[in-house]
Amino acid sequence: MSQPQPEPLPLATPVRFLRKVGPQRAESFARLGVHTAGDLLEYFPRDHEFLPPVTALGELLPDAAGRRATVVGEILTQRYVARARPPRFELILSDGQEECRLIWFHGHYLRDQLRPGDRLAAWGKVSRYRESLQLVNPRWRKVEDLEDLDSLQRHGLAVYPASGELSSGQIAQVVQVNLEDLLAAAAEPYDQPFRSQRRLPTRREALAWIHQPPGAEHVAQARRRLAYDELFLLELAVALRREKLRRTQPACPLPLAAELDRRIRRRFPFLLTADQDRVIAEIAADMARAQPMNRLLQGDVGSGKTVVALYAALLAVGQHRQVALMAPTEILAEQHFLSLERYLHHSRVRRALLTGGLPSRQRTALLQQIRSGESDIVVGTQALLEKDVDFARLALVVVDEQHKFGVRQRQRLRGKDAAPHYLVMTATPIPRTLALTVFGDLDVSTIEHLPPGRRPITTRWYPPQRLPDAHEFMREKLRRGQQAYFVYPRVEELAGYEPTLFPDESSPPNAADAPGAGGGAPREPRSGYAAGPLKAAVAEHAVLQQQVFPDFRVGLLHGQMSRADKQRIMDDFRRRRLDVLVATVVIEVGVDVPNATIMVIEHADHFGLAQLHQLRGRIGRGTLPSYCLLFAEAPTEPAQRRLEILTQTTDGFRIAEEDLRLRGPGEFLGTAQHGLPELKVADLLRDTDLLRMAQRDAFEVAGRDPELSQPMHEVLRRTLHERFGENLLLADLA
Ligand code: ADP
Ligand code: MG
Repeated sequence: MSQPQPEPLPLATPVRFLRKVGPQRAESFARLGVHTAGDLLEYFPRDHEFLPPVTALGELLPDAAGRRATVVGEILTQRYVARARPPRFELILSDGQEECRLIWFHGHYLRDQLRPGDRLAAWGKVSRYRESLQLVNPRWRKVEDLEDLDSLQRHGLAVYPASGELSSGQIAQVVQVNLEDLLAAAAEPYDQPFRSQRRLPTRREALAWIHQPPGAEHVAQARRRLAYDELFLLELAVALRREKLRRTQPACPLPLAAELDRRIRRRFPFLLTADQDRVIAEIAADMARAQPMNRLLQGDVGSGKTVVALYAALLAVGQHRQVALMAPTEILAEQHFLSLERYLHHSRVRRALLTGGLPSRQRTALLQQIRSGESDIVVGTQALLEKDVDFARLALVVVDEQHKFGVRQRQRLRGKDAAPHYLVMTATPIPRTLALTVFGDLDVSTIEHLPPGRRPITTRWYPPQRLPDAHEFMREKLRRGQQAYFVYPRVEELAGYEPTLFPDESSPPNAADAPGAGGGAPREPRSGYAAGPLKAAVAEHAVLQQQVFPDFRVGLLHGQMSRADKQRIMDDFRRRRLDVLVATVVIEVGVDVPNATIMVIEHADHFGLAQLHQLRGRIGRGTLPSYCLLFAEAPTEPAQRRLEILTQTTDGFRIAEEDLRLRGPGEFLGTAQHGLPELKVADLLRDTDLLRMAQRDAFEVAGRDPELSQPMHEVLRRTLHERFGENLLLADLA
């Protein structure tokens, strides 16, 4: 697009070279993250204030009360009244005719900023004080001349995120004197018809308005354009990545024959649900194509995803292709392997388990089987990604709980002569907005309803004083052959801490009020629990075994145990050689013991919402009613909110949305490298319409010009590179 200025200031210019910025200010700016002219241009105000009309004091006098006004004048006197309650700072301001008193309670800090002789504009609600006017806690700006005042009135006041070294006013001043030069360098990626269809101002207008809005309605328009730009770029990155995946290498088409479908279904001891049938049809349609599938399968814990994944696997194996199933942890990989064993008992499907800890002789033999095509389904951890893992005929990769890998996977398993189909599973439902962004390069299939026959899980939240009741309630269930989990936030307690059985021995348990029988309203926090150290799995295991459940078998499972020990314990629990399992979050995913019906989570306020939901998903897997008992003295408001949500719903989607709302997208996704860039203006939770529009537009552009090589996309290409150069979203883009 055209550049009106002969020589625009490059946006990469260090701020130091801007007007009114010396080396010292440049350092202060750097500490706010502003290093270049471009950074300053995109250092957006967090708010805008529009001044009430400037009114002469004489005009205000008759009916001053309650009016908002701006008064302008010179400071005559100042004083600080330290002995007043509350102490206050006072100024007398004169506009040449009348006088006005300005008061700031606790305004000690203003003493050096506002001196007699200074010219000041102050605004706020006016009141009468005896025969004169006064403003209490007004907002203010110094004005040196009429021009300052004029600009202040016309543009309102941009309120910038400030620091101790740089006030919002100082930042505004620097922006103001440089704005014209900065704007000249702002490039416009869209043409006029595109903008007017979407009612977007030019980027230059938007940037001018956000810093110096001519009126309040301009701020909204500016925000809308700037938010659109952010979302469009984000979606464009996603769309280009998707195009790239689509166009690189063809996949092996795996059409589904009716006979194969029948054979696969015979493997399951139940009828597939309508939801499972629907997502299987979506997956089968993808896999029948010569374009690699890139699909996200989401469904709550226990909704039957593994069964769907197994269907997809058998669809490939039935056509003599290999399948890799990758899980984030060894426990989960083993769990998957065991479910396969269950369903594939007596079948000819050859399956293998590849984890990091395999002895090297076994590993070599296994790699040989994979290379020669003797293994049909290989379950494993990230060990599957190692270079020497070489599949002969890989046609499908299933990745479970991808977000648990920490970093969104850079590396993909590759096929030899064809790209494998990809199926990503997650039990943390992805709220729609994130599905459109971070996972926007994947098609989405959703299982909404659980398989039939499930009993809902009752979730309650109790203060720790009620633990003994819970123990009693559990003994009852254990006696009937059911099993239970205890979950703690830590493996071991900190030194010097004595585990206590009952935090408050003096209040005897009240059996009639047992868990599950109602109640469970939050109590006032009591000392000795929330304030004390966290109970830990190892110590509590001993207490529970020796003192609470001496007649039952209590096992311990945590991440610091050896692989073999973990496996043995899980095995014992699965085979009912243990009644109670004391654990840390290692049981968060994958553990599937339908006979376990109770879960106690102590210090539940120390877990995240999604995490608690995942933990709870370990129960309610069978046909008996299940109970999740949360113990916490919820010290913080957000923690209370988390626990309340859990007691209200087991709907993973609602929980995910709440979690996103409580924590924000970055935290929700859990890692710094989740692929979601920082959004300065757009808000994923509020700007959903804008996001949809940006997504549609971006996918359209990427579909037409996947390399962005057309001259009209030059600006987009450049901007995209500046923004995401190093980012994962574009890691695959040359
Ligand atoms: P997810 O992987 O989504 O957590 P799973 O596939 O492990 O769920 O299924 C959870 C439980 O439900 C398993 O015990 C499984 O055998 C059972 N299940 C799955 N699909 C059905 C179905 N259609 N009918 C009855 N039970 C099912
Ligand atoms: Mg599962």
